[in-house]
Amino acid sequence: MSYTIILSSVFGAVIAVLLVISSIISFKENEPTAAKRLLFLVIPVLLIYCITPVFIADQYYYIILILVLLPVILLLLLIIPAKHIVDKSDNNLSFQIDERDIMFSRKELKEGTERYEVYYRSKKDILKLDNEFRKQPGLMSPDSKYYSKFGFNASDVLFDVIDMFHDSVTGDVKTLNEKFNENEYTQFVKNWAKHLGAHSVGITKLEKYHLYSVKGRGSEYGDIIENNHEYAIAFTVEMDKKMLDSAPKVTAIMETSKQYLEGAKIATLIAKWIRSMGYDARTHIDGNYQVVCPLVARDAGLGEVGRMGLLMTPKLGPRVRVAVVTTSMPLNIDKPFRGDSVIDFCTICKKCADTCPGNAIQNSQREMINGTLRWQISSEKCFTYWCIAGTDCGRCVSVCPYSHPDNLMHNIIRYGISNSRYFARVAFKIDDFLYGRRPKPKRLPDWVND
Ligand code: SF4
Ligand code: SF4
Repeated sequence: MSYTIILSSVFGAVIAVLLVISSIISFKENEPTAAKRLLFLVIPVLLIYCITPVFIADQYYYIILILVLLPVILLLLLIIPAKHIVDKSDNNLSFQIDERDIMFSRKELKEGTERYEVYYRSKKDILKLDNEFRKQPGLMSPDSKYYSKFGFNASDVLFDVIDMFHDSVTGDVKTLNEKFNENEYTQFVKNWAKHLGAHSVGITKLEKYHLYSVKGRGSEYGDIIENNHEYAIAFTVEMDKKMLDSAPKVTAIMETSKQYLEGAKIATLIAKWIRSMGYDARTHIDGNYQVVCPLVARDAGLGEVGRMGLLMTPKLGPRVRVAVVTTSMPLNIDKPFRGDSVIDFCTICKKCADTCPGNAIQNSQREMINGTLRWQISSEKCFTYWCIAGTDCGRCVSVCPYSHPDNLMHNIIRYGISNSRYFARVAFKIDDFLYGRRPKPKRLPDWVND
């Protein structure tokens, strides 16, 4: 037997073993289609590399060599950096979002009230769009598509408990009688947040464009937002992949509300600790924000903002929730994350846009919006779908290739994507092959009632 045949057979056997391992991992990740497809690939691999070479005469050894070289070239694409092509555009540093324009504020406007009249007086086009969601059953309504008595009540309870944290977004600051340096404060804050359950933590200077201009929710509605803190601590908490697999069914909102509570709990504990050390701090948690969390988190080095307008983290993609604490405590800041590979991948992938049941995510290139080059989803279409489904949907987060679990198999792919735009183009096709272009929502876990 020639060396070429031995080389090819060993190579084929290694690939086959890797495919079987990947298939087992996919099966454990509740991805039976991907598991079957990976297993199915073992047959052609064995045929091409281990069986056919035996029947090919030695003088055609170069055919075998080419076959071996092709996957090796693919692997080289993974390790040889190839720059991602991205149109750069700095943020418009002076633009601030008015919180009264976000859907959570608009949904609270009741016809016949002064607030409703004042808001829509000069916004007839927005009123027309908002009337669409008002025609639907509503978020967590018994008439909504994915109503579940158990699940909706569980989420309701979680949101009630989050509301209890609103009383301590601010608080009394103890007298500063002992000073430490910023290294000591930073090290403790980051490690403590992680110990309390944060997946990633970053710190940035608080910029004007991080802040909403005017408050749009709660008793401070209409007030100009003022926050003189110098720093913002942003952190993420992970959303459970299996709960999101069934999105937009009820598990989506059960998981979101659970992680909003986690975020609120960690932020409150961090802020209270800071106040106990003699510095002011304010939490920014579900239902009570002064800041636009994805922008703060991006500038704190935690990720990039992708096609669906959410923070895309390097290890969990958009499968996170973000909370923020702003403070006067002196801290070391992190470098902002400028994820060219994320923008580049989002430019070609478009899976969220193709899958969105509300048709809310644009399929096109980024556009200049208020001085910043970015994608913008139609928040009206998205929210209208929420009011049909009864949940906060999350289908886009569930199907995003970046949302796969944080393990070796997916991290190798993530490394390839961040390293090489050629590999990114191959990876996006592999993701479609394994998981489907428009994956269907999975069945609810057995313990959750429909
Ligand atoms: S699904 Fe694709 S296009 Fe959408 S955010 Fe994820 S990577 Fe970007
Ligand atoms: S949450 Fe649902 S409706 Fe909204 S953008 Fe994502 S997929 Fe579309």
